[in-house]
Amino acid sequence: MGETNDRSFMGMTLKRILVIGAGFAGLWSALSAARKLDELHRSDETEVAVVNPALFHSVRVRNYEQPLDPTLVQLDTVLGPAGVRLIQAKATDIDSTNRRVTIEREGVPEALDYDRLILAAGSVLVRPPIPGLDRFSFDVDTYAGACKLQAHLLTLPALPDSPGRYTAVVVGAGLTGVELAAELPARLAEIVANSDRGKVRVVLADRSATIAQSMGGAQPVIEGALKTLDVEMRPGVSLESLDGQSVTLTDGATSERIEAATVVWCGGMHANALAGQLPVTLDPLGRVPVDAFLRAEGVPGVFAAGDCARILIDGTRPSVMSCQHGRPMGRYAGNNAVCDLYGIEMLPLSIDWYTTICDLGPWGAVYTEGWDRKLVSQGETAKATKRTINADRIYPPKTGVREDIFRAAAPVVQTPPPTERTDKR
Ligand SMILES: Cc1cc2nc3c(=O)[nH]c(=O)nc-3n(C[C@H](O)[C@H](O)[C@H](O)COP(=O)(O)OP(=O)(O)OC[C@H]3O[C@@H](n4cnc5c(N)ncnc54)[C@H](O)[C@@H]3O)c2cc1C
Repeated sequence: MGETNDRSFMGMTLKRILVIGAGFAGLWSALSAARKLDELHRSDETEVAVVNPALFHSVRVRNYEQPLDPTLVQLDTVLGPAGVRLIQAKATDIDSTNRRVTIEREGVPEALDYDRLILAAGSVLVRPPIPGLDRFSFDVDTYAGACKLQAHLLTLPALPDSPGRYTAVVVGAGLTGVELAAELPARLAEIVANSDRGKVRVVLADRSATIAQSMGGAQPVIEGALKTLDVEMRPGVSLESLDGQSVTLTDGATSERIEAATVVWCGGMHANALAGQLPVTLDPLGRVPVDAFLRAEGVPGVFAAGDCARILIDGTRPSVMSCQHGRPMGRYAGNNAVCDLYGIEMLPLSIDWYTTICDLGPWGAVYTEGWDRKLVSQGETAKATKRTINADRIYPPKTGVREDIFRAAAPVVQTPPPTERTDKR
């Protein structure tokens, strides 16, 4: 056992609530647990510790944007005032029988005991074995990935002229792919010389029969916006291969080769592999099934939240990998981990609304309501809502004041983001 595991404090042995991950779910789990301990006047006997590889919380949903500096929140500015301990490390192993997590710092493993564990390690981009995908594609899945893409785009003007120098192909037309494709024409136009602006080309490809097929009432709006932005759409095709200069798409019968210096893979998410270390049956997305209290089913002492957990969010429908669900899951998991530790009644999480707000770059945005995604607002109206979400609603308080942070961390379900309705209800 290393120094990090030491729980002695003023002659006592502290209990520990350990959180893995400081994304949306992990950050709010930790803050919520600290809030509840404070309320119970138990902060001096139980520590809340978060293990995260970076010293910042990444507002991951904004990775399609530029610049990215405002998307990073230094963790000490939020965890510090809340009295949460940050351990900069990567969790590598969960031993739920002995209530122990192995972490790794600079290649050195260390064991950490816990009384309650909250697994909130998020998700990763799915990477199927497509020739050239690992080597030549970019992504916006992580802050590092998004920075790498932007650094690459900035090098394009210095590359030798070629037919695909200013062509970007985005593969995967879910929310992430659509948001990025809508941004890229303007972003590339800013990077290239005036004389080359006409050479900018952005293609959005997806294997579904239509682009943004799952977007319900927003689908035609998205298609229209992408047309206005000059994004070429290629529905009904899969990525066959890429080689750094070109990409090959196929509809199963015929292939199309597009010269492109930039290919961005937006092929969907899968839960973090740590989920597979718990003795549970994972769902098809690799998520840990949790009950309404966020307890991992059948694993005493373990809670899970965010993208690596699956809850029936309204009692019937599985949660969606989203910050919309990850943040409240975290708030309830943190609260309930403390309640469980002290034998207090836990709070069930139930959210009876679901919205989707998809950014469409300079065109605006589109806002839908409900699981069937009924159109509510679009254009500049929806964009104003998206801006408020991305710059304010999903951030922890910026004041650094403990009371503000605890107020925001309370296990309360927010109301849907307000927007002016432009639908004809
Ligand atoms: C470009 C983009 C746009 C998106 N747009 C939207 C949107 O509009 N609306 C929406 O609701 N959702 C959106 N999402 C999805 C959303 O970002 C995720 O659902 C959300 O981030 C999940 O939160 P999380 O806390 O579960 O995981 P994450 O935010 O991924 O956080 C996981 C944390 O765990 C850490 N971690 C990972 N492995 C370990 C380990 N072994 N040990 C310790 N720590 C570890 C990570 O470093 C990270 O800090 C978008 C995602 C992307 C990529």
